[in-house]
Amino acid sequence: MSTPTGRPEPPVAGTVAVPTGRRTAYLIVLVVIPLVALAAAVVALWGWGIGPRDLVIAAAMYVVSIFGISVGYHRLLTHRSFRCRRPLRIALAVAGGLALQGPVTLWVAEHRRHHKYADRPGDPHSPWAYGEGGRALLRGLLHAHVVWFYTARRRSDRRHWVPDLLADPDTRRLDALYPVTMAASFLLPAAAGGLWSGSWAGAWSALFWGGLVRYAVVHHVTWSVNSVAHRFGDRAFDTRDHSSDVWWVALLTFGEGWHNWHHADPTCARHGVRKGQLDASARLIRMFERVGWAHDVRWPDTGRMAARRSRADGGVKPRGAEL
Ligand SMILES: [Zn+2]
Ligand SMILES: [Zn+2]
Repeated sequence: MSTPTGRPEPPVAGTVAVPTGRRTAYLIVLVVIPLVALAAAVVALWGWGIGPRDLVIAAAMYVVSIFGISVGYHRLLTHRSFRCRRPLRIALAVAGGLALQGPVTLWVAEHRRHHKYADRPGDPHSPWAYGEGGRALLRGLLHAHVVWFYTARRRSDRRHWVPDLLADPDTRRLDALYPVTMAASFLLPAAAGGLWSGSWAGAWSALFWGGLVRYAVVHHVTWSVNSVAHRFGDRAFDTRDHSSDVWWVALLTFGEGWHNWHHADPTCARHGVRKGQLDASARLIRMFERVGWAHDVRWPDTGRMAARRSRADGGVKPRGAEL
């Protein structure tokens, strides 16, 4: 079954039809405006540079947002790569919310469906959705990067994909409070800038850099995992999809760009398992484990790695948590 645009979008199990209507408004508010801010930021940087205060605030918000998505939304809540105490679980979920990629149950539901159907009909965001070849490739990359979310005619049914999160009062409360998290994502940097500088100008400046620009950058680097890391890059492990390793995506997403092993063993807490693959998110989980905040961490298993290895490069790290 194809959509009017020619993109295969079968009514697979666990999906519900999306009401049409406000998609364009969402696309403008959530994607186009931050992108314009990003472009304006480049111009501003070109002319006057960015002050150390705004840089520190924007960098702090970036680090919290990326770890929130990678360690919180993704490795903890989607894949259960480790277990942790309730305050840390809530803190990581709130941090993921600050990345403004939707309430946690929606994010997790779409991502679990992505794994189930990766790069096949039913995957919500495959860059192969339009086929191969120049034009299809470009359309597919744009679709996987961002367009899928705003043009999807079917959305993952949360009752099907995340019954565990719906049964958890904490995640239900976080979903309900998501608008507050969205506001905090802008008010926090603004407050920090205002207090630090003691001026309204400092608050506005931090709102721009630590709020809008950071938000746009976080979106595009994490979306690159769905687009770039399913189309380009190295593949050392056999998977049924096109997941791959892209070093610059991994660097910017704190390890998420080591996507090939992640699809080979989705519950593994470390994605960068080959030599030289720095995985900052795995390091953070290891730190949590060392101080007793995380337990039952699913570290890589050499047997599983050897079984999935497609090209003998001798570069797979041994088991153990040395990262
Ligand atoms: Zn993937
Ligand atoms: Zn995943």
